[in-house]
Amino acid sequence: MNEQIYCGGCGVLLQSEDKNKLGYVPQSTLESTSDILCKRCFQMRHYNKNVAVDMDDDDFLQMIASIRNEKGLIVHLIDLFDVNGTLLSSLPRLIGNNPVILVGNKIDLLPKSTNNNKLKNWLFHLAKEKGIRVIDVFLISAKNGQQFADLTESLEIERKGSDIYVVGVTNVGKSTFINQIIRQSTGIEEAITTSYYPGTTLGFIEVPIGKNHALIDTPGIINKGQMAHYLSDHDLKLVTPTKEVKARNYQLNDEQTLFVGGLARFDFIKGERQSFICYFANRIDIHRTKLENANTLYEKHIGAMLSPPNKETLHTLPALTATSFKINEPYTDIVFPGLGWITVVEGNITVTVHSPKGISPSIRRSFL
Ligand code: GDP
Repeated sequence: MNEQIYCGGCGVLLQSEDKNKLGYVPQSTLESTSDILCKRCFQMRHYNKNVAVDMDDDDFLQMIASIRNEKGLIVHLIDLFDVNGTLLSSLPRLIGNNPVILVGNKIDLLPKSTNNNKLKNWLFHLAKEKGIRVIDVFLISAKNGQQFADLTESLEIERKGSDIYVVGVTNVGKSTFINQIIRQSTGIEEAITTSYYPGTTLGFIEVPIGKNHALIDTPGIINKGQMAHYLSDHDLKLVTPTKEVKARNYQLNDEQTLFVGGLARFDFIKGERQSFICYFANRIDIHRTKLENANTLYEKHIGAMLSPPNKETLHTLPALTATSFKINEPYTDIVFPGLGWITVVEGNITVTVHSPKGISPSIRRSFL
């Protein structure tokens, strides 16, 4: 009888029949005894290379919806830099009546001046609006372990002896989160594959906790509205912030425009002169121009001065499409999912924002 062996990185069933299918390893590797990685995880870990696989969204969702029939504590991990793109409205359908702890990851990216209590309350209400009843909210950095102790303590209490399922869309830091938990409890580094690329976690991975229970990593759910799916790997690295995002403040008159690299454009159409605070990865340049010159500037400089994208990655970017908002309230954010946001300080204005087709900008009350 053939023994079934699973990848120590992503949890997929290993096989040596088809090089192009998930879980491939050479037969000789399969026969060796110790911890085996599939070809994909091996390449990601050793060469930081992403290998595309064939698995559609339905397969992912079906796997995750099996949690409905289990009893456990759900940790819903979201990316604080992309709350709108990562908070799952479909969560209640996927997990049934299991209790949820909402965990906002990547707190290290938000400005130091962030008011954590205000942010927690804001998340709590946002989740409620989406029909997700959460028993608690935590703000953490899976990367540097910030505020981890409080969370793990609460998990231990709230799981009431059952399994913990970690659920989230791709790129929220699920693997990093689980690695951090493993590191803190065992001292092992990099147990699960992490990378810049979405969709790297393909199977359920069980990390034993306590005697008969496990912390279970579920496959990353693909949210098509995430910027990550529209950008080349190169550009994705550029727009993904890696450290605290510095607020950049612009005083604008109406009929002025800001370009966020070549990926987004903000036109101040009508209203009194005021401040606009931009929160994007520090590496992305922001350019100010007159509204009347904006089209020409874009055509002339896209892929060069207005970058990312660059000349090579330009063709992968969907055309920018325009959305207009009338903003009355002060401290309103215009969010470009996965890229960042612009805080309108005073309000009473009309703006038009341009973002790649498929990535819908939205507005929210500022949480900073
Ligand atoms: P997964 O797809 O949800 O498993 O996400 P990964 O764990 O692979 O992380 C996706 C990206 O986010 C990687 O580039 C990580 O380094 C980064 N990341 C994860 N956690 C954090 C965090 O707490 N802070 C920051 N700044 N980046 C993080």
